[in-house]
Amino acid sequence: MGLTKQMVHEALRTVPLGGELADLVGSGRVVWMAACDAVASVRLRDDGSNRRPTAEAVFSAIDAAAKAAGERLDVLTVEFVDAAGKAVATERVGGVASHPSPRGPSTAPQGVGGHTPIPGLDPAGTGLAGVSRIIAVGAGKGGVGKSTIALNLAVGLARRGHSVGLLDGDIYGPSMPTMLGLGGLEQVVREGMMEPFYTHGVKCVTMGKLVQADKPLIWRGPMAHGAFKQLVEQTNWGPLDYLIIDLPPGTGDISLTMAQVLRLTGAVVVCTPQKVAQDDAVRAARMFEQLGVEVLGVVENMSYFVGDDGKEYDLFGKGGAKAMAGRLGVPFLGGVPITMALRVNSDAGNPTANFTATDRAGRELSGALEGVVTEVEGRAALAEVRARSARPSLKIS
Ligand code: ADP
Repeated sequence: MGLTKQMVHEALRTVPLGGELADLVGSGRVVWMAACDAVASVRLRDDGSNRRPTAEAVFSAIDAAAKAAGERLDVLTVEFVDAAGKAVATERVGGVASHPSPRGPSTAPQGVGGHTPIPGLDPAGTGLAGVSRIIAVGAGKGGVGKSTIALNLAVGLARRGHSVGLLDGDIYGPSMPTMLGLGGLEQVVREGMMEPFYTHGVKCVTMGKLVQADKPLIWRGPMAHGAFKQLVEQTNWGPLDYLIIDLPPGTGDISLTMAQVLRLTGAVVVCTPQKVAQDDAVRAARMFEQLGVEVLGVVENMSYFVGDDGKEYDLFGKGGAKAMAGRLGVPFLGGVPITMALRVNSDAGNPTANFTATDRAGRELSGALEGVVTEVEGRAALAEVRARSARPSLKIS
């Protein structure tokens, strides 16, 4: 069943703070809460002090309630908000840390992530206040699993304790309402800013929740430009370690807008192994280069098929995208197998299950996804260092 909102609600009534049991619900500090699988998120009114101890105490309380119900808590994000509801700080407790075991759940809180800078400035130079790194996920053509990889990258990073946003920039065919199970939820707008949906540890906005699901989305260039800009700029993202952008397939307007509006840490290109898919992926990689966006690397999706018995079948020519990455001179970030579970979990809006299954095919899948997450984390960190050293510094004499 996983953690429930009720468990979190009850736990927040008895939080061990300062040698006493504090009732954060009764005292009116709790603004909002959510729980899914082994991830919980709580928004508290900020009193300007003791943020870290408060977050750790909330973790202990929810962890105890979860254990009592035979469940577990892996990651807790506590967002502290001011009187106007604006996020002023985020603390995360738990997470899988930098060397996760894809084969098993994490246990004790490790305090990964820590304090994220207060928004208002843009110290990381990404173009979005409070957002440290922005990574676009693109593909030469549709249907190769670009949205699937973008989503699982976001969820994988969140499971390591990072605060993560996911912008469904595929405004022509948004997948996230289905893949994140946003079905019955309504988009909340506060003071002209969209509140991202918060599920599976990830904050998400998507055009799919702003229009009717069965309505064709026909955008002229300037309209597409405006729509994407609004999703980026009129969302109350709060502080983020990573913003992942799921781009539309191909090399169109949205990528251009993105490069104009934001300064990206880098881009990930998703490709299937076949020759025809590689040709399109090369075009996508060249587009990022032309836009001045570093290609962090290539992910080979649908690399091979793994049956539920764990047996492997080479359907499309495993290794094709890896060879292509070599020819392009960009890193290979790993291959992700085709599994029945990945498709089922995507249709069911349950990406967390891709990381927690214990059968043979599930272990293969989670291992592959964790591998991609580790590679992207490392490559993004390197790209960040390079960008920082390349940025001109102001000298006053
Ligand atoms: P794109 O964004 O490139 O158009 P999607 O991510 O929407 O592609 O994936 C297309 C379909 O393929 C979805 O139904 C998705 O669940 C499925 N899919 C993608 N990758 C895999 C995989 N490795 N194994 C099984 N199904 C997959």
